[in-house]
Amino acid sequence: MTERRGAVCALGEVLEWAVVRNVPDVHVEPGEGAWQVQFRRNGRLCRVAAWDEQTGLEIVRRVKLLSRMDIAEKRVPQDGQLQLPVAGEVRHMRVATLPTVRGERLVIRIHDARMDPDDMAAEEADDPVWRRWLSWSEAPHGLLLIAGPTGSGKTTSLYRTTRRWAEKGYCVISLEDPVERHIPGVHQVDVMGKRGLTYRRLLPASLRQDPNALAIGEIRDDDAAWTAVQAALAGCIVVATLHAAGPGDVWRRFGHWGICPGELENSLLAVLSQRLAPRLCPHCRRRKGAVRGGGGRVALAWTAAGCDLCGGRGRSGVVPVYHLSEQGRESGQALLPDWEESAWPKVVKGDLGEEWYGLDTASPSASVEEV
Ligand SMILES: [Zn+2]
Repeated sequence: MTERRGAVCALGEVLEWAVVRNVPDVHVEPGEGAWQVQFRRNGRLCRVAAWDEQTGLEIVRRVKLLSRMDIAEKRVPQDGQLQLPVAGEVRHMRVATLPTVRGERLVIRIHDARMDPDDMAAEEADDPVWRRWLSWSEAPHGLLLIAGPTGSGKTTSLYRTTRRWAEKGYCVISLEDPVERHIPGVHQVDVMGKRGLTYRRLLPASLRQDPNALAIGEIRDDDAAWTAVQAALAGCIVVATLHAAGPGDVWRRFGHWGICPGELENSLLAVLSQRLAPRLCPHCRRRKGAVRGGGGRVALAWTAAGCDLCGGRGRSGVVPVYHLSEQGRESGQALLPDWEESAWPKVVKGDLGEEWYGLDTASPSASVEEV
């Protein structure tokens, strides 16, 4: 027990040290006699601590356990993720092991939103709805909309989509009011409506640059709405954000801005609606029963009572929850306004005041899974 406590403290100290120094990678490796702990900064490893063998083995075992790896398996590489409170904040970490002749080597990557805003957590990148959204982003032309309230992470999703285009070698032009963050490989333009540089005026100039893809953030008026639709009809794949509750609201707003329903119907490929939901602590969550989700689907509800890893709160950060409404792909059926938010995740209050998050999008990190 004392050994274990020593290992817990040694690991905590090293992680805290890394976070305070903005070091994203911690390497732990078995050496002769002692285990080496190294930080990687600016591409170079530097030794920061040494552990005795007992502590080293104990820490590797603990990290593997927390990352939900098979602790008995030491001969094949494994990877996983965990969350731990470090320096007053719950940090998300990715962990990978490599079996070397001396024993298992461990790399811990500490995810910090301030360090790397575009590095999406693996569990989010694995979300089936997000992957489907990305497959729509590969369409040659059409309009993709990201809808949600303020603070739902729309801009982050927009940036992730444009970044992916840039990585694929697309010529991407982004018209923003204003540009909030620079995205490598994306040609970002500040829209300055007050000085006459409106979306409508920027569109022909942008199209003359021969782009594959265009981003508009965010649609707040008829100028931006018209531009998004016209660019999509002109043969670009367009992504834009707007403040809307879901696909039905998108249609109402575009109607309000005077966009012809036929043009929207011809251009709109998909609407990604999103929210941020509290993430149940992955270490103490357990199944709570089944709830009927939207669209008559049954979902499993989970609850989390709290543990020392989440400070007894049962919550650990937030997770984006997506809902995708899409045009009938094979049938060519348009995404019509009556494709309502029927499948939108519900929040169900339990009888003991506990919250059940009845999400029927099967996000692996969300608190509910589809049956
Ligand atoms: Zn917990």
